[in-house]
Parts: sequence; structure tokens; C-alpha cells
Amino acid sequence: MRPEEFRTSYPHLIGWIRETLGAHAKEAKTVASLGFPRLSRYFSEELLRSTKAVVIDRVPMPPLSSMGLSRFAEFAVGDYDGITYLDTFFVKRRSATEERLYFHELIHVVQWRSLGPEAFLAAYAAGLENFGYRHSPLESMAYNAEALFSQSDELFDAEKLVTDQLSGMRRRLLLG
Ligand SMILES: [Zn+2]
Repeated sequence: MRPEEFRTSYPHLIGWIRETLGAHAKEAKTVASLGFPRLSRYFSEELLRSTKAVVIDRVPMPPLSSMGLSRFAEFAVGDYDGITYLDTFFVKRRSATEERLYFHELIHVVQWRSLGPEAFLAAYAAGLENFGYRHSPLESMAYNAEALFSQSDELFDAEKLVTDQLSGMRRRLLLG
């Protein structure tokens, strides 16, 4: 994707995201209020209090084709268990009790925060285009951290893990 293509699509994308979050604001609950036992050992209290989760039957996906992003149309019709927009994530009802899913989406919240919305979306799009969903850099970071969380009790600072990995890949991510 050419940078000017992304720049043209970005206002539509971020507009849709803000509208979608506004439409679900009433159902959103802070992650801190949900009572998951392990999350606070990996993420700060501040992050868990400022991040919101919405349980929903189908996670909302932007109408990418009508935004000039039809090359990502396949991604947009996928059936995902969770998706994160800015400081809020949506989780599918069938998976809404899985702490590892919240952990995964919190990794994305830290990515959104660290990169900022425009760089996050540009990096996410470049990753999808070049590596596909599962192996895109921002997803593989989230899946790898989720695996560490699920497979052992070893504690680590998940926010630091993300910011360290992002600073290592920032240049490559931003250049696509
Ligand atoms: Zn993910």
C-alpha cells in the first residue's frame, strides 16, 4: 500500500472507529472491574482502569472496501474472537470469560498507545499486507506474549515487553 493511499483512508478509518466506540460506550466496562485474577500481575492498574471491554455477538469490523481498502476485504470478513480499537476492545460472547483473550487484546491497547492511532493503523495494515494476519508483526507480538501468559506462571512486565519490542521494530514498521 502506498503511503498516500493510507493517508487518504486514515480519516475514514479513525472516524469509523470513534463512531463505533461511541455507539457502544454504554456497554463498555473497564477491564479492572471484570475481576480477572491474573491480569493485574502483568499490566498496571492504570492501564486496566482506563481500558474498556465490550462483550458482543460479532466483533465490529470497518467497511474496508468502501474506504478504498478493498485489498483487506478478506481480513474484514473474518470471524474474530476479539478486536481492539484505541483504548477499547470487543470480545465475542463465546470467549468472554477467557482471560488469555483479554491479555492478548491488552497487548494491542499498549501498541495503540505507544505508536499512536495513525502509526498503529499504518503498521497494522503494512503487516497484514506483507505477512498476513497471524504473522503480521503486531499480531505475532500479541500471540507470543499471550502464549507466555497461558503456558507458565512466570511473571513479566507486559507493557515493558511491548514497548521494548516496538522500539526495536519501529523503524521497520513505520517504513512498511
Ligand atoms: Zn490480535
